[in-house]
Amino acid sequence: MARYNESTCRLCRREAAKLYLKGDRCYSEKCAFVRKGYPPGMHGQKRQKVSEYGMQLREKQKARRVYGVLEAQFRRYFREADRRKGITGELLLQILESRLDNVVYRLGFARSRTEARQLVRHGHFKVNGRKVDIPSYMTRPGDEIAVRENSKDQPVFKEMLTLKTTQGALPWLEVEREQLKGRIVRLPARGELDVPITEHLIVELYSR
Ligand code: SF4
Repeated sequence: MARYNESTCRLCRREAAKLYLKGDRCYSEKCAFVRKGYPPGMHGQKRQKVSEYGMQLREKQKARRVYGVLEAQFRRYFREADRRKGITGELLLQILESRLDNVVYRLGFARSRTEARQLVRHGHFKVNGRKVDIPSYMTRPGDEIAVRENSKDQPVFKEMLTLKTTQGALPWLEVEREQLKGRIVRLPARGELDVPITEHLIVELYSR
């Protein structure tokens, strides 16, 4: 799988928005976007006129980066959203939110989606009682996501229980933190999602 090996914070600066890709650091004064809130590179501080296409492209890149999805996968998600009945942009976000790595993050079992993806890959989670180690696994309302018994003693989860996290208190999820498990009650409504994405620009981009 293709990997992005450069600075993660560069992505926030490129998209001119805090994408919260690094967990605790994103909420501290060390956040690179707080210190250098302009695009990276030697021309980063110059004012540049952005075309309509440029804005649509940046919005798509931003969404990909927030959820850590590759281009081909993202396009597949869009096609799926376009096929369903409803508002395509909102459906796209619901699909992205249904990825197992995102649900683990939303339940508060990881500090970032990147960490959630790694924990899922390492086989620490089960869905409806069965081990699942595929970060892109699509969850559904009613699914129960839990840390596997053998993994509960891992330092990362013990530490997780001591953290005060804003994740895990979301209206479309039920969380039993002490038991390290949670359930998806329903799909999130657009107004409940805190992602800095203008999804209609993505729809316009793919509709060109
Ligand atoms: Fe983005 Fe987090 Fe880095 Fe700040 S610390 S620039 S929010 S990844």
